[in-house]
Amino acid sequence: EVRVRFCPSPTGNPHVGLVRTALFNWAFARHHGGTLVLRIEDTDASRDSEESYEALLDSLRWLGLDWDEGPEVGGPHGPYRQSLRMDVYADVAERLLAAGHAYRCYCSAEELEARREAARKAGRPSGYDGTCRSLTDEQVAAHVAEGRSPIVRFRMPDEPITFTDLVRGTLTFTPENVPDYGIVRANGAPLYTLVNPVDDALMGVTHVLRGEDLLSSTPRQIALYRALADIGVGPGGVPAFGHLPYVMGEGNKKLSKRDPQSSLNLYRDRGFLPGGLLNYLALLGWSLAEDRDVFSLQEMVAAFDIDAVNANPARFDLKKAEAINATHIREHLTVEEFTAACEPWLRAPHAPWKPENFDPAAFAALAPLAQTRVTVLSDITDNVDFLFLGEPVRDEQSWNKAMKPGAEAVLATARARLAAAGEWAAEALKAAVTAAGEEHGLKLGKAQAPVRVAVTGRTVGLPLFESLETLGRERTLARIDDALA
Ligand code: GLU
Repeated sequence: EVRVRFCPSPTGNPHVGLVRTALFNWAFARHHGGTLVLRIEDTDASRDSEESYEALLDSLRWLGLDWDEGPEVGGPHGPYRQSLRMDVYADVAERLLAAGHAYRCYCSAEELEARREAARKAGRPSGYDGTCRSLTDEQVAAHVAEGRSPIVRFRMPDEPITFTDLVRGTLTFTPENVPDYGIVRANGAPLYTLVNPVDDALMGVTHVLRGEDLLSSTPRQIALYRALADIGVGPGGVPAFGHLPYVMGEGNKKLSKRDPQSSLNLYRDRGFLPGGLLNYLALLGWSLAEDRDVFSLQEMVAAFDIDAVNANPARFDLKKAEAINATHIREHLTVEEFTAACEPWLRAPHAPWKPENFDPAAFAALAPLAQTRVTVLSDITDNVDFLFLGEPVRDEQSWNKAMKPGAEAVLATARARLAAAGEWAAEALKAAVTAAGEEHGLKLGKAQAPVRVAVTGRTVGLPLFESLETLGRERTLARIDDALA
């Protein structure tokens, strides 16, 4: 049975790297009919926050990435917040000490730093040098008498550690490169290095899919899993690992959580669809097929496997993300779904018009045209604001450009032709403006430009004649009169 976990630390706002990791674990679990465990790694009280925890759960719900065990849904291995499992870690640490897999280390931070510095100068490996590995009772008594409080340090085996990463293939780490490491602080607080593998063991995790930044901690964790199996913590065995490639941002630098482009909320606030964003994030290390950039989550689940993940760094490309999202809006939503998805932007506080001026019927008339044109849902307001604002927005630069003296003459002719149109419907309105253009020796494209600016305030927008039809005769003509005044 496949059991994977997504185990974020609740610090700061969710970012796209985190979502990519969640998505790959989710897709892997769903593809294999396995279990996704959500575990909250909140053992660092100075960095973790309740807001961040709430934001994480809220983001996963918005994205539609559901979990089978974890906060709110429960499960047989709870609690799923590490802050509620401190007694478990204390107990395991004691048992690791008793079995000799770990030892108390009395070296002070200054001593460690001085020895590291000396090792570096001498060109020797600068990890922990094993000073406290086998202290005598007398040495321990002397340290205690000095008032030193020890950390707990894990004893690494003296042989190399080899494992086959599901993305990167077989890797070997030699003991010089993986020194003994701390698992419990002097104040008794357990570290990530301990709690993460302990919970993976206790929760029966079979596959660990996570970011490449954690690759170097894997040999240490594998040694710890073996020790845990030895003292009977968990069902035994070591999970398989797959490290997902780095995501590169601007200037080919690693996309950092602090980079504004990486904030999940940015995409949500701009009106990315969850499916569009996840589709794009899936491409950061994986592809459905050579020539298929756009797919649904169901298609991803059906096709996803970890051995198809690429080890090369992936490049974050906002333009591509937007293009994929636009395709999702266009092709994966019915008009009703599109309208419902636009709701938040059509109402305060996003909407620039007075709430009472919003007219659902007018919106419905143009929704199918808008659906094929917006990249993100927040684009919707610019496309339809001319319907619900008392006066169109006026961008002086485009206004002045469109309202040159020659254009005013065309606009005046168009006004007369529109007023005389037999029927206030797109076809007839188009014929009116076409005829006005002909009078001035202009093609329709040129002739309709001043009409568009006069009526909508913008140089680009939805198809003009449908827009005029929806706005209505009276308001259209009044706006043209204003522009000519
Ligand atoms: N809480 C760790 C992190 O957010 C989890 C790392 C892991 O997946 O092992 O970096």
